[in-house]
Amino acid sequence: MKELTDEIENVKVHHDVIEVEVNRTPVLFHYILDLCVKGSMHLPSAFCAKLVHEEMEFWGVSERKLVTCCWAKLTSEKEKQITLEKVQKEWGVA
Ligand SMILES: [Zn+2]
Repeated sequence: MKELTDEIENVKVHHDVIEVEVNRTPVLFHYILDLCVKGSMHLPSAFCAKLVHEEMEFWGVSERKLVTCCWAKLTSEKEKQITLEKVQKEWGVA
């Protein structure tokens, strides 16, 4: 995990339970947690490829952990994003 200590907001200990607050978007955390339990990962039906990339990088998750159906969706979304960025650059739109 990359620089987790920078993202930790608060650590609390209640009896024998350690509660750690991490300053990351909760949108994909369920999927990351699912990966820890099942060993493979799907993605939500709608997602931003950049956000997925950032979260997977943060949590140290390789795209190889994605199940084929979702790996294909992510690859497709990345290609769309690259095309969109090229068009925006050509048109001078940020
Ligand atoms: Zn899937």
